[in-house]
Amino acid sequence: MPATLDPASLVVEADRARADGEPLAAPGPVFASTYRLAGDIEPAAPGYGRSYNPGWQALEAVLGRLEGGEAVTFASGMAATVAALEPFLAPGDRLVMAGDGYYNTRRFAEAVLARKGIEVRFVATAAMVEADLAGCRLLWLETPSNPGLDCCDLEALAARAHTAGAKVAVDNTTATPLGQTPLALGADLVVSADTKAVAGHSDVLFGHVAAREPADAAAVREWRNLTGAIPGAMATFLVHRGLATLDVRLERMARNADRLARVLAAHPRVEAVRYPGLAGDPSHALAARQMRGFGFLVGVTFVDVAAARAFLDRTALITEATSFGGVHTTAEQRSRWGGDDVPARFVRLSAGIEAGDDLVADVERALA
Ligand SMILES: *Cc1c(COP(=O)(O)O)cnc(C)c1O
Repeated sequence: MPATLDPASLVVEADRARADGEPLAAPGPVFASTYRLAGDIEPAAPGYGRSYNPGWQALEAVLGRLEGGEAVTFASGMAATVAALEPFLAPGDRLVMAGDGYYNTRRFAEAVLARKGIEVRFVATAAMVEADLAGCRLLWLETPSNPGLDCCDLEALAARAHTAGAKVAVDNTTATPLGQTPLALGADLVVSADTKAVAGHSDVLFGHVAAREPADAAAVREWRNLTGAIPGAMATFLVHRGLATLDVRLERMARNADRLARVLAAHPRVEAVRYPGLAGDPSHALAARQMRGFGFLVGVTFVDVAAARAFLDRTALITEATSFGGVHTTAEQRSRWGGDDVPARFVRLSAGIEAGDDLVADVERALA
């Protein structure tokens, strides 16, 4: 395979490394807890299902190439998140974390890490570039942040963190490896909840960590083996199959997000719209420089809760559901979960792959 393939080709072509006579599709699931294994043991040899599955190897090879590092797959985004935190922090260490990122990650830091004697400091993504990183062991970033869609400068922050002696981990779920490659910008670890756009069909939970340094990847891999947070064979197959269409899905999703953002921003029942693709958005300049495309998430603040409810109740194509990044357009009031600092009239919209004209007509009808 040429070394210089565009990521859009890589997601499709990466399986070509397999042998002649094998199927053209993603490798099928191998359901195995144990493998035939005789005599002395070589560490890399397939032996047991908690440390080896051929499906993981094939998918990790593609994800590693996309990320520019070594990838390790996990049972969920949270399993990947924990594997990028725990092995790199000890009691007494300081963790600086995006204070407006994924709420379950913040809860994990408070409920588990802080109670073990790790000092957790939260900093808003929009203010991260001025964060005090002195004495920091690990800097945890999320850009664009979920659900506020603020961005931070990964290259500048990675340089500052490294000067302070800290490692940098980036939750890249909202961007995906096709939208942004944090390892290339200096991050040490990247985390992805592949449950969202990477798998893309709302039918599987999955995650991965990718590391620039082989030693960090080995620590993450050992963590997976010690904790058993392994992905199942069927889930691995579904994610590998979904990955091939990631680029075409993202293209349509971003185009729909852009159209909906513009329609909603101009609507009298909408107070404000956040979408990094809008020229006036606070994230626009940085996203244009740092990302490939502006993504599929839109943050909508309606004039009141009644307008937010009308949008969720009366649209026919927009399903009220949590999560994001799937082929269906979905939306929800994030406030209903209680973990995000957003008002009840704020709705996070995840644009799907429906025809843009149908989505726009649906929204206009619902808000009329
Ligand atoms: C969903 C999500 C996660 C967690 O992923 P799960 O697969 O639900 O465990 C982590 N980070 C972000 C930004 C997410 O959106």
